[in-house]
Amino acid sequence: MSYGKVDSNPQIDQFREQILAAAQTQTPLSIQGGGTKAWYGNVNTFTKLDTRAYSGILEYQPEELVITACAGTPLKDITAALAEKNQILPFEPPHFGEGATFGGAIAAGLAGPGRITAGNLRDFVLGARIMDGKGQALSFGGKVMKNVAGYDISRLLPGSLGTLALLLEASVKVLPKPAATATLRCSLPQARALTLLNEWAGQPIPLSASCWIGSTSSDQVGELTIRLAGAVAAVKSAIPLINSVINTTELDPNVATAFWTDLREQQLSVFTNLQDDETLYRLALPAACGPLTLSNGQDDIALEWHGQQRWFKAPSDDTTFTAIKNLANIHGGHASRFRQGSHVDPSKQRFTLLSEQTHSAALEAVQARLRAAFDPAGVFATHRLP
Ligand SMILES: Cc1cc2nc3c(=O)[nH]c(=O)nc-3n(C[C@H](O)[C@H](O)[C@H](O)COP(=O)(O)OP(=O)(O)OC[C@H]3O[C@@H](n4cnc5c(N)ncnc54)[C@H](O)[C@@H]3O)c2cc1C
Repeated sequence: MSYGKVDSNPQIDQFREQILAAAQTQTPLSIQGGGTKAWYGNVNTFTKLDTRAYSGILEYQPEELVITACAGTPLKDITAALAEKNQILPFEPPHFGEGATFGGAIAAGLAGPGRITAGNLRDFVLGARIMDGKGQALSFGGKVMKNVAGYDISRLLPGSLGTLALLLEASVKVLPKPAATATLRCSLPQARALTLLNEWAGQPIPLSASCWIGSTSSDQVGELTIRLAGAVAAVKSAIPLINSVINTTELDPNVATAFWTDLREQQLSVFTNLQDDETLYRLALPAACGPLTLSNGQDDIALEWHGQQRWFKAPSDDTTFTAIKNLANIHGGHASRFRQGSHVDPSKQRFTLLSEQTHSAALEAVQARLRAAFDPAGVFATHRLP
């Protein structure tokens, strides 16, 4: 179901002109908002299509839990508008810099610590207005959850990194800020942390995020931080329940907020100080995957999403990446070179090819057909994604 009228607008007309010119000369355009995630995905040096001039919140209905904004709107403006009404983007998108835009956050498809409970960014995109490689402005989806039926095109955009179409506007579902939160911390080995988190995830405990940081060698003790969020009574009663199993300390709320923000923005030491020839690897793994033996990994590993997302630094060479990809594949997951050090060959592939993995090989053909339909002239074929 479409929403709004696809009006002509000078800025949209300008995007169309740039896209049609690129289609004619067959030179790809690299869509960019604030450029805060330019390092994410394969490198490209194509001419930029800057979305920032198309900015502004178009509609915000707090009582309907939905916000609609232009792609170039600063992400901080969105979160500030929501904060005024005590609401949040529940998937906690990382900004990775001051200039992060709404469209950039959606196209990157990245979600922060809350993803394990709240769901991925894609799950919250209700509708989108896009411009395809033929300069056509098209609307998909709607502004309410119940309109979403069948195959929803607007949910293809998250994670597409500007390789499918230009996102013009999007409507996302928002949620009220939880009434209560508490952050608990304790020391324990990785295997025990994973077992407990998976047990608790299946129980009526308001577990909203978790992070274990420690040594890659699985028998070592590390630091587990868990966030409880929800109704006051639910959070209050969960604390003694957890403390009856492990002895935790509750963090001061300001310290807790700083920790979860630093985790989301990858400002904790496990993410920073990337050596020039190193890579920050990301493993996405199925629930209940135990500790993995990482031969080349460095000392520290961070586990988020109850172990379903894991981060560690290791050498960037292809042999190491292949070993890491194979390890992830064996366990039903996938790996990516999430962030690379400054001396790493920029042509090095960041993502796992869909065709390399038994569980995603069949998607390659679907992906090729989608790209051909959205963008027959290759305007968005920047190869930021494989
Ligand atoms: C047109 C298009 C092409 C893409 N091509 C690629 C590509 O070639 N390689 C690539 O790595 N990513 C590709 N992506 C991105 C990918 O689909 C995810 O958006 C991205 O990996 C983020 O994954 P996630 O786990 O955060 O999110 P989610 O989308 O929430 O993932 C859901 C589940 O699927 C699993 N999953 C996600 N991506 C993959 C994958 N590639 N292989 C196996 N399991 C997966 C996750 O582990 C998770 O359990 C493409 C996206 C689009 C829209």
